[in-house]
Amino acid sequence: MPYYLPAGMATARQWESAMAQENNDVYHIIDRIKDAANILDLDDWLVHKLCSVKMEWASDIEVRMDDGSLREFRAVRVWHRSPHTDKPHKGGLRYHPAVNVEMMKGHAMEMSLKCWLLGIKWGGAKGGVAVNPRELSAQELKKVTEALVEAMNERNILGPFRDVPAPDIGTNATVMNWIRQYYARLRRSREDARFAGVVTGKPIGEDLDGIPGRTEATGYGLVQVLNKILDVYGKDRNGCEVKVMGFGNVGAHFAKFAVEAGYKVIAISDEHGAIHSPSGIDVDKLWQYVYDNPNNTLRSVNGYADASGINHEEFMSLKCNVFVPAALENVIDKNNADVIGDNCEFVLEGANGPTTNRADDILERHNVIVVPDILANAGGVVVSYFEWAHNVNIRDDRVPMADKDAVLAAMSDMLHKATTQVTSRAEQLDTNLRKAAYVVSIERAKPHFEAKHLA
Ligand code: NAD
Repeated sequence: MPYYLPAGMATARQWESAMAQENNDVYHIIDRIKDAANILDLDDWLVHKLCSVKMEWASDIEVRMDDGSLREFRAVRVWHRSPHTDKPHKGGLRYHPAVNVEMMKGHAMEMSLKCWLLGIKWGGAKGGVAVNPRELSAQELKKVTEALVEAMNERNILGPFRDVPAPDIGTNATVMNWIRQYYARLRRSREDARFAGVVTGKPIGEDLDGIPGRTEATGYGLVQVLNKILDVYGKDRNGCEVKVMGFGNVGAHFAKFAVEAGYKVIAISDEHGAIHSPSGIDVDKLWQYVYDNPNNTLRSVNGYADASGINHEEFMSLKCNVFVPAALENVIDKNNADVIGDNCEFVLEGANGPTTNRADDILERHNVIVVPDILANAGGVVVSYFEWAHNVNIRDDRVPMADKDAVLAAMSDMLHKATTQVTSRAEQLDTNLRKAAYVVSIERAKPHFEAKHLA
């Protein structure tokens, strides 16, 4: 069974459909935008723009499987609004069975807000393919990716100045490289040499055009934001106990850098199980067990010998200082927010949209400080921006040399500044960090929308 199923849900599909009804991501984001709009007293036309999307696209792509059969997969892409007409839309590309247009609308809106909060002039986008990549061979996955590029290209959706995908759940640097190569093949005769900017999160190496630090950026950035937040709230990070949901790109890198920074990671979960060690998990050793171990075909923390196996409910109710959801959206909802509120002080949103609005209210009643996704996990988009700026030769003083230390330092600098802006604004408005982050972000985009509106 691929998921932990809450009581009363007989199948993963039943759970997903219940999640979709109760936790419609797009309405969450719209409510949050409207809260910020009220604080900023925005005009109706701007509220309408912010609460709607510019483009939604869906297509069934056909792929010949290794056994000769033909299979169809749903491919989707959504663009939120952007006042920056000379810059692309930007956002993750997800390969996961639950991918659909409605879910991607909320993520695209959040992506805009994340970019604006960090001072990056991109519009948000999000999309993917409804597929479980683990069920396909590498060859089949490559064909799915090429069919997606072909379909997006037909509609003129992709391009270094139109829409620039990046890795997300189920995709990685290899998938980004396939996109870049196939896009270049399709467009060679029509565009110049800046094809590399069609995706970010590409591999590093000669002619591969990725930037060092992109793979670890989101996890590393989470630690930087957490450090700053703990400074602001006067809490010592040494020995601070952390539990992490998800041991993929974001969760695993976060856990690794958190331990290096002095935090104690006491529990980690993934879709197959969870582990707990009160004395702290040796994340490097766990990494080897998960990623450098040919016998661990599921790439799971399950069965790791130096920690106890626990179930999902035990993991969620485990006491810690900081809970880092770094897996899927809507994992903190009205059903478990009280338990989480009783057992942790901070929620650091590594995933996009892990907390529903009802859960937000419950956590606030428990005085839990939620560090919102658009701030917490923005490290990835910052380094994506550096990569794209190198690829398309954009000049911006914030963009460092393509050297890993310089990249991570420049990214940390931008995250620290944004964290300070959000915490100060929260104090000034006497509100929580999510509302403050939305206010700072929308306030930054507002003059650009107004200039475009009046033009
Ligand atoms: P990934 O595919 O590399 O890892 C996902 C992890 O979540 C895996 O360990 C998987 O086992 C686990 N998981 C899935 N379902 C689970 C469940 N029900 N319970 C517990 N664990 C579960 O994906 P990723 O790139 O690490 O992305 C994770 C989240 O972070 C997503 O919400 C994504 O949108 C967000 N994000 C990613 C980036 C990035 O740079 N990759 C940037 C910003 C935000």
